[in-house]
Amino acid sequence: MTIRFGAHSHSANPLDWARDLGTNVLQFYLDDPQGWKKPDFTVDISAAAAEGIDVYVHAPYVVNVASTNNRVRIPSRKLLQQHVTEAARVGAKGVVVHGGHVTGGDDLVDGFTNWRKAIDGLDLPIPILIENTAGGTYAMARFLESLQVLWAAIEGSDNIGQVGFCLDTCHAFAAGLDMTTLVDDVRAITGRIDLVHLNDSKGAAGSGVDRHANLGTGQVPAEQLVEVARTAGAPLILETPGGMEGHVADIAWLRERL
Ligand SMILES: [Zn+2]
Repeated sequence: MTIRFGAHSHSANPLDWARDLGTNVLQFYLDDPQGWKKPDFTVDISAAAAEGIDVYVHAPYVVNVASTNNRVRIPSRKLLQQHVTEAARVGAKGVVVHGGHVTGGDDLVDGFTNWRKAIDGLDLPIPILIENTAGGTYAMARFLESLQVLWAAIEGSDNIGQVGFCLDTCHAFAAGLDMTTLVDDVRAITGRIDLVHLNDSKGAAGSGVDRHANLGTGQVPAEQLVEVARTAGAPLILETPGGMEGHVADIAWLRERL
């Protein structure tokens, strides 16, 4: 069994990050992950395909299409569309986007409805991959129960074939999900796992704290991380700290165990 893996690039030329690591999967931001401006990605990464490197784009964190606040939700849809369009142009296989949340005190149902409207309205030449998140009571994709309602809300969309799932192990652990049944539990709801963000967690199980740790140095039991990596049936992306050195160590850790 060959598992494809790689890391989130911290280089101005993301392709170099994958080349330096010797990996065949790559993730990066098209632009400032905290910013709202239309992405304008000018680096030529067209060699990725010929080099066998699969490319994924991570949408900015400010995107929250579930939001019950118009001034967040509407620009979020626009920004997500711009990132999808640009990601498709550079040859990406998908765009990872966080599940988001409604404003505290608001009804979660409105958030799920907003997700459905967002998906109905997107032009998706490549899939969006909805990622589970670690914390918050008003999140759309923290708990399995909410993920189930989210999927029920979106699965009738004409665009559902272009909606996938990105499973983040740090977020799942910090959210309080059972790591030993995680892959099956998620797949039972979404029918698919397209990508894994393989991260250890500084925060304790159920803490809701989103702080990524290098593999084997956080609180997720090593065998549980490896089990997810092995059984998810999807490419793995590291989003761990420590720059290139951290990724080199994490990949060595992973190679030893896979
Ligand atoms: Zn992630």
